[in-house]
Amino acid sequence: MLHHFIWQFFLVIRYIVEEMLGQGTFGQVAKCWDAETNSYVAVKVIKNQPAFYQQAIMEVSLLSMLNEKFDPDDQHHIVRMLDFFPWKNHLCITFEMLGHNLYELLKKNNLRGLQLQFVRTFSRQILDALIVMKGAGIIHCDLKPENILITPKVNSAAGVKVIDFGSACMEGKTIYSYIQSRYYRSPEVLLGYPYTTAIDMWSFGCIVAELYIGLPLFPGASEYDVLSRMIEIVGGQPPDDLLREAKNTRKFFKHVGSIYPGNEAHNGLRSSYRILTEDEVEARDSKKPKIGKWYFPRGRLDRLIFAYPWKNLNEGNLPETEKEDCLALVDFLRGLVEFDPNKRWSP
Ligand code: ATP
Ligand code: MG
Ligand code: MG
Repeated sequence: MLHHFIWQFFLVIRYIVEEMLGQGTFGQVAKCWDAETNSYVAVKVIKNQPAFYQQAIMEVSLLSMLNEKFDPDDQHHIVRMLDFFPWKNHLCITFEMLGHNLYELLKKNNLRGLQLQFVRTFSRQILDALIVMKGAGIIHCDLKPENILITPKVNSAAGVKVIDFGSACMEGKTIYSYIQSRYYRSPEVLLGYPYTTAIDMWSFGCIVAELYIGLPLFPGASEYDVLSRMIEIVGGQPPDDLLREAKNTRKFFKHVGSIYPGNEAHNGLRSSYRILTEDEVEARDSKKPKIGKWYFPRGRLDRLIFAYPWKNLNEGNLPETEKEDCLALVDFLRGLVEFDPNKRWSP
């Protein structure tokens, strides 16, 4: 206590900024030397606006609960929060210093994807974090490669940790409807339907696919574009009862009655709804859906996994073990990018 007082009294500088690590919606993150503990820490400086401040308080409370109550021994791949303090109307949160995020890792690899062994290791560790979060009733709401960081090498084993609880909330206390980053946004959030921890599993599926192929699975330039890519790649569409109850269904779907033969031809499903055509969306919005940021081969999920051009593979010339691995990966992904949140696999 006295020690603390002396620090404050002489206004000794504790955190010395070395470099900027990243910046996001909520503020900036700096690599700092902590003169009190003689170690590097990451300090997130939240923007000095009340809404951001409030949300940051949420980040602090949910993460400290996860750290202390649900993962006291730091075994479940969730970032450790060290401290928080106000500074000139900014809330600052200090975290253990971690490495690059997974998007940076993919970029370093020229967006050609990672070897399956790394995809497997990272996936298992993210799932471990998701199990703990589900147990705590916490929805992350912003799972994406930028929010998963490489851990410094311990015994040269590769590892990751989940960061950024700045959009997280408690299950059953969901306040916001505009959540998740667009490419990783679940169908129920797009459609405006009550959501659960299952939305993190959707994002997780998108991440696993991206780690393997190197590019986002649903890089839609608009919400409609994301949804139509989902329908094309996964096949099928959200179940009728979800579409009937969701707030935004009419933004994307046309009610066509349950026995619409054209609809069956469209997706092989009997459904009361069919997704709008691009022309219908264009006529309604009178603005063209923009072309995606990347050229991305569109097609079914299994084709994307088996025949992705960078891998220079196709089913025919794949060694037998790789073929099995790819089949298992497609099967795994199908459990995750499942339109029906009740059927989607839990961690
Ligand atoms: P978003 O726009 O995703 O909401 P944000 O403003 O909430 O971002 P964070 O995601 O917490 O901010 O951090 C932004 C970036 O800073 C991360 O993507 C990561 O690259 C870097 N970063 C954050 N925390 C750490 C850490 N503990 N160690 C190293 N780098 C970090
Ligand atoms: Mg972030
Ligand atoms: Mg955030």
